[in-house]
Amino acid sequence: HPFARARYALAAHTPAQLPPDGGYEVAFAGRSNAGKSSALNALCQQNALARVSKTPGRTQQLIYFDLTPPETAPARYLVDLPGYGYAKVPQELQAHWQGFIDGYFRHRAALKGLVVVMDIRHPLKDYDRQMLGYAVARGLPAHALLTKADKLGRGQQAQQLQAVRRELAAAFGDTVSVQAFSGESKQGVDELRAVVAGWLGL
Ligand code: GDP
Repeated sequence: HPFARARYALAAHTPAQLPPDGGYEVAFAGRSNAGKSSALNALCQQNALARVSKTPGRTQQLIYFDLTPPETAPARYLVDLPGYGYAKVPQELQAHWQGFIDGYFRHRAALKGLVVVMDIRHPLKDYDRQMLGYAVARGLPAHALLTKADKLGRGQQAQQLQAVRRELAAAFGDTVSVQAFSGESKQGVDELRAVVAGWLGL
């Protein structure tokens, strides 16, 4: 699969630091601790890929992982958005961040889809809905990744999946897909790869 060649490329704290807006990229969002790093690592079959996103000072940056095919097609990136949900960020930084992320979702032509990572036991918090709303407002497809599925039995998983599917359909129509996932057991990793590869044209 094409994800094994993913490599850290750059970190952007301002729009000027983003790579040229000509390729294909898929962004990953989620509350802090939801399991986004583990999901990225499982997707790319690399144990420490997303560790860079966690280094101090990097928590307000867009982290780009490059998986452009060697035959130099347009650039392909996975973009790790900062985890949200902790209100410890100074107000000024938060305003900068809001502006940056808002502009990114509004104007980034290379952005082809959004994955929102949520703990299957605590899905669809306010910011999760806001992120999904950003994508849908742009006409972009989004995918709700309900992770830590290994923490629930099959019956409870199915129940959560159905409840989230119903809520998303009511809020956003059919532009948001949903799946259960586990970075721990790798449940659902093929399904995630298929969705993201499709958006990236890989
Ligand atoms: P992030 O802050 O969203 O990047 O979350 P991490 O990937 O760092 O995960 C946060 C915590 O949840 C860590 O202790 C992980 O080991 C744990 N975790 C992440 N994914 C899973 C999963 O699928 N199953 C279980 N049981 N734990 C997970």
